[in-house]
Amino acid sequence: MADTRQVGNLTIHFVGDNAAQLKGSFDSSYSGSQSFRSAMSETARSFRDIYVGSSLGDLKDQPGFNNAGFDPNSPFTQSTSGYGKASDAQTYFIVVTGKAHTLIQDGRSFVGSTDLVLVHEFLHPSQLIRDLTGSGVGVFSEANTQMREQTIAQELGKVPGIDFPDVIGTGTPYTVKLDSPGAQPYTVEPDDPTLSIDPIRFEDAFGHPFDGSDNDILLLKAALFDGSIDGWGNYVTPSGSDRYNAPFDSDNEKIVLSAGHSDRAVSIVQNGGIRQIKQVFNDGSRVNSQYDSDGRLQTEEDVFTNGISAVKYIDTKNTHPYNELDVSEDATGQVTAAQIQLDQNVIAAGGAIGQIFGSAIGNALAPNDPFQRIVTSTVAGLIGQKLLQTFTASLTLDARLRRQRLRRCLRAGRGPCRHRRDFLVPHRRARPRDGTDRLEWAIV
Ligand SMILES: [Zn+2]
Repeated sequence: MADTRQVGNLTIHFVGDNAAQLKGSFDSSYSGSQSFRSAMSETARSFRDIYVGSSLGDLKDQPGFNNAGFDPNSPFTQSTSGYGKASDAQTYFIVVTGKAHTLIQDGRSFVGSTDLVLVHEFLHPSQLIRDLTGSGVGVFSEANTQMREQTIAQELGKVPGIDFPDVIGTGTPYTVKLDSPGAQPYTVEPDDPTLSIDPIRFEDAFGHPFDGSDNDILLLKAALFDGSIDGWGNYVTPSGSDRYNAPFDSDNEKIVLSAGHSDRAVSIVQNGGIRQIKQVFNDGSRVNSQYDSDGRLQTEEDVFTNGISAVKYIDTKNTHPYNELDVSEDATGQVTAAQIQLDQNVIAAGGAIGQIFGSAIGNALAPNDPFQRIVTSTVAGLIGQKLLQTFTASLTLDARLRRQRLRRCLRAGRGPCRHRRDFLVPHRRARPRDGTDRLEWAIV
């Protein structure tokens, strides 16, 4: 028989032998701290059920527990006074062990409080949403949680620097050490907050599929913050790709938000594979990477703080005569440089060409005569007749519409003219009357 508390749509279930004690602890913090009450209403916007016990054994029979993926042997569950994890977008599990412990900050020790361990663990679910929807730079989720805990501790009568570590004043997080013999201090891993969202939830809320645009990202964050869309949050290791594909959520279709110390990222997972990663760094620069269905990087767009952008296109499906195409444009959208790495067989056919086409493309895109200009005869000569045929054969897309779009943008002088999925490739016009082959640049 569980003891429960209701906060809005959220039901808190206190389970196990210490249920009454845990509920009493929650009640006294809830009635004593305005900040804790508002933190709980924040959590209640996204979560429906939170289970609280004194051990994993207390929680193991509750619905969804196995999905949370607790590891009973990890330091997470062995060396600390409390911990928690979500099992889906609406369900969260908390263990507060009640073990005597000490908070250590900068060599100073503070007697730990089990009431505050419970408060701390209740703050993590909403902290994760805050970390991913906020706009601040550098995310230190654990430190942010400890600062909120400190505010609540003060409202409950603690004095920072005297009987609770002053995390807000010093900016230094505390570590936890159990008071049992031989216990090691437990430093919370600086893992990255990560949130997995079902794309159907976005489509239901906004009437169109999530397209990864800045607009859709903003809509998604607003909906996460007000609780109209929820997501399954967890902390994942900063190295590798866990941040971008949220392996804790076994769904094959996901939108994943994550935050590291130097960037925030939004990625799209389709069919179990990462298809797009959009990153914004603390200095304002951005990187947008697209992957093909086999998981190979296909394009990468870098936008630097000075407005210069560079697009790298990698021909993963070998449908073009080159392996890689790099195009740069300035802040007004003018193409300033392009470089092609030709396929080996093309090089063999056409001679040693790893040419930087550079100004030739810039000229070709001059606003007054953007697509009539033939690439310089020098370049054409280097490529040679045989190569030209290879280029032509490889072009299957109709570029007309996109050319018009770029031309309109350039004419209107509304830089930067961005076409994220458009790439410059050599394009041969219909054979002119004089019978000569002509090569020009087109956006496909
Ligand atoms: Zn914590």
